[in-house]
Amino acid sequence: MTDCIFCRIVAGEIPADVVARTDAVIAFRDIAPKAPVHVLVVPMRHEPNVAALAAAAPEVLAEMAAVAQQIADAECGGEFRWIFNTGAAAGQTVFHAHGHVMNSGSLGWDA
Ligand code: 5GP
Ligand code: ZN
Repeated sequence: MTDCIFCRIVAGEIPADVVARTDAVIAFRDIAPKAPVHVLVVPMRHEPNVAALAAAAPEVLAEMAAVAQQIADAECGGEFRWIFNTGAAAGQTVFHAHGHVMNSGSLGWDA
């Protein structure tokens, strides 16, 4: 989807600080971090939210979980929050599924 910012990052059209990549998943640092560690774990396929992704491609969601754990192991001792905002009222602003990997320094979610 050319109007989706995360699809454009997946396609390499917009730069990102990539920290991990698999065949189906890319992870990059949030442009406006809300914690000392704040990485977005993103499926390369476009699905609007995590439930849609789980229904369409559960193996990709499982791969995202493995990538999230690898990032946390490398950056914050393996313990982390993994947040999926779903719906505008819950703070979702990019409607391409993604999980926020954040460490314990994260503030309350008010974005
Ligand atoms: P949401 O609010 O949808 O749960 O999370 C979207 C996140 O994407 C926000 O934390 C926001 O800072 C981040 N974001 C939006 N645009 C960009 C971008 O172009 N690059 C990066 N790295 N992060 C972005
Ligand atoms: Zn997309």
